[in-house]
Amino acid sequence: MSTATTWIDATDPLARLPKIALHDHLDGSLRPETLIELATAAGIALPRTTPAALQHWLRNFAELEPGRDWEDLFGLSTSVMQSRDQLRRVAREYVHTLAADGVVYAESRWAPEKHLAGGLTMDEAVEAVAEGLARGVADVFELGHRVEVRQVLSVMRTGSAGQQVLDTALRAADIGVVGIDLAGHEEGRPAHEHAATFQRAAAQGIRRTVHAGEAAGAASVADAVETCAAQRIGHGARLVEDISISGESHDVHSAVGAWEAAGSLASSLLPGPIATQILDRGIVLEVCPTSNSEGVVVASIAQHPVALLAAAGIRVTLHPDNRMLSETSVTGEMRAVVRAFGWSHAQLRRSTLDALDAAFGPAEALERIRAELVLPGWG
Ligand SMILES: [Zn+2]
Repeated sequence: MSTATTWIDATDPLARLPKIALHDHLDGSLRPETLIELATAAGIALPRTTPAALQHWLRNFAELEPGRDWEDLFGLSTSVMQSRDQLRRVAREYVHTLAADGVVYAESRWAPEKHLAGGLTMDEAVEAVAEGLARGVADVFELGHRVEVRQVLSVMRTGSAGQQVLDTALRAADIGVVGIDLAGHEEGRPAHEHAATFQRAAAQGIRRTVHAGEAAGAASVADAVETCAAQRIGHGARLVEDISISGESHDVHSAVGAWEAAGSLASSLLPGPIATQILDRGIVLEVCPTSNSEGVVVASIAQHPVALLAAAGIRVTLHPDNRMLSETSVTGEMRAVVRAFGWSHAQLRRSTLDALDAAFGPAEALERIRAELVLPGWG
């Protein structure tokens, strides 16, 4: 197996604990070495040509390329994920990364509509990813690591392929596709514009997660749940805007101050109507602290509302979002909340079990993972 970048501190004891990755973009997980190799073979020019320089450029894109759209970053990775062989390789290496991260169950999300430029159909692209994931699972099993990996197909908000993506997901249920997602610029197209796709998914038994409460406010979380029947929320950090403290509303930027006192204020946190709906339904947030702290929601992890949301009783789980862009992992996100908020083993265990509970895979498989891997690992 390759010794290329995995963004994981292997010496961190958290790396060995069994973890669940629910919000993990496949096209955000390419190792810089692989991106360079595939781009070179395909004759595609990259902004930097050594792994270290490219990684630095990816991580610091906003400062180095002011005014450019972050979707351009995904344009780079998707440009080298257009053939069966390319998709198989990226998916296979993604599983190697999961193993290094101690992940025992993952849902890899990606948008088939962005992988058709090489002539593949959506069905063919999904098959290629399934084949790569299966190879990766077999590779790491030989090394003693058990992991199950499913696919979640993202619908792009600004596109019009939602129904086609859903049809693809339905046809691919037997090769590991378990759900659909809504991704892309939140500002551009609110979730309700995709309600027809997501309501049909609900009627046909396809599970649903929606990016919300990241670039847009708490109302976007309500929109996702009410109009798209979202069963999980991708990010959801700005749900904090619907939680007040002792009756005083606050915005996300004051959340850190609130959290500093939350040890004593936990009983004074007052959820508004949207947060109450999330609490009552037990909806899990797929929180990505490092990704959110790169300027989208907050300026640093210390300002992130994840701990305040947890104190309010919201089921928060921790995920990398885009490993390549944030140089992170589930291990890294756990370490980040331990450093910033002093999360205990019990809190990390709780978020791991909540993630498994909210996973879209078959109940029987999830129960086996819980009993054989997660509970023994976390104690
Ligand atoms: Zn995401």
